[in-house]
Amino acid sequence: MPRLRVGVVGTGTMGAQVLWQLSKRGVDATGFETHAPGHPRGAAGGETRLFRTIEIEDLRYAPIVTRAHEIWAELHEATGRELRVLDGSLVLGSPADPQMRTALESARRSGRPYEVYDEAELRARHPQHAPDPGDIAIWEPIGGTIKPELTVAATAGLAERNGATIHRHSPVREIRETSRGVTVATDSGESEFDRVVVAAGGWTNQLLPRFADLLTVRRLISAWFFAKEAGHLDTIPPFIRTVPNYCYGLPVPDRTAMKIGLGYDHHMAADRPDEVERVARPAELAPFRRIVERYLPGLDPDPMRTDTYIETYTPDHREWVGAHPDMPNVIVLAGFSGHGFKMCPAIGEAGAQLAIDGAPALDVGFLRNPGSG
Ligand SMILES: Cc1cc2nc3c(=O)[nH]c(=O)nc-3n(C[C@H](O)[C@H](O)[C@H](O)COP(=O)(O)OP(=O)(O)OC[C@H]3O[C@@H](n4cnc5c(N)ncnc54)[C@H](O)[C@@H]3O)c2cc1C
Repeated sequence: MPRLRVGVVGTGTMGAQVLWQLSKRGVDATGFETHAPGHPRGAAGGETRLFRTIEIEDLRYAPIVTRAHEIWAELHEATGRELRVLDGSLVLGSPADPQMRTALESARRSGRPYEVYDEAELRARHPQHAPDPGDIAIWEPIGGTIKPELTVAATAGLAERNGATIHRHSPVREIRETSRGVTVATDSGESEFDRVVVAAGGWTNQLLPRFADLLTVRRLISAWFFAKEAGHLDTIPPFIRTVPNYCYGLPVPDRTAMKIGLGYDHHMAADRPDEVERVARPAELAPFRRIVERYLPGLDPDPMRTDTYIETYTPDHREWVGAHPDMPNVIVLAGFSGHGFKMCPAIGEAGAQLAIDGAPALDVGFLRNPGSG
């Protein structure tokens, strides 16, 4: 029987995982990438991503993150690389906030160790934070920091070692479903596949205009702030603060500075990511200053570095994981809405299973797909 031929368009966060999963299953897998795996121009730049299993939005993600945690361990083993540093993470906020209530419920149901600190204990353990009166924090020992670029590059490398091919610097111009399968067109010609997985991040709408009504593309700013005093950040874990003052922070590896990110509303639309201005404007840094001065007063509120990345959102932040509505042999993974990295190994597995037999082992039915609209 001939081997199943699957093309993967985009070998970024999700596409590299799909390609690896396909290659492990003996599929004839071919990736196409505008740049090269591990590049910083899409959603996977900025050296760090927060890993947490505590959900703040929707408890139905819990099994996906649990499965991802298992595959992350397999990835560490297979690559021989430390792709995550798991020395704990915090979720902070008011116990009255809906996201914090979801977080408490998520921690309680998980069966994994966690601790809840009241405001006094939070101040005592992590004096870098200046919480609001009555704030609490949930400490999760298996939370931590992901290395995003290394994860993408190392996973793509594993796929190639298993026999997958990656066409680097080969942007895909068009995808067509025909009676023979799916055609992928690049500047060097056309290739035929049985199935194609599109994991093109912020470029999905340009390649598949059918998704333009669903996906909104944003240019996200990350900003890095030095500590005012030496040693100030030595013990601070990565954290996320729930709405209404949503923000997250990750210390840099030498702990001289902290990277801070804000939520969706603070970010510029980027319908055509290759044309959007990539340098942060001074006015865009004002909300960062407010957050730093209010909640992390030991940081210098003038950033020492800013960078921008491209992320794709759906209106309710549930991603599309399923077939294209008009092309059943084209699987689309898109709209990871600011929370996709921690679960990318599980999404990659589901994407590969969808391409092979249409049946992911995990329940991804609550995400968007042709059935859910
Ligand atoms: C600043 C920032 C901070 C974040 N923080 C966190 C966090 O702390 N924790 C967390 O879990 N998640 C976080 N996220 C979310 C997470 O990083 C994203 O959800 C995830 O990286 C999205 O992956 P993707 O595969 O959809 O996109 P990408 O990783 O951008 O991959 C898309 C790839 O497709 C390629 N491509 C596009 N078009 C074509 C084409 N026509 N032909 C060939 N190749 C093409 C691109 O070059 C790119 O490599 C954050 C996101 C951002 C931007």
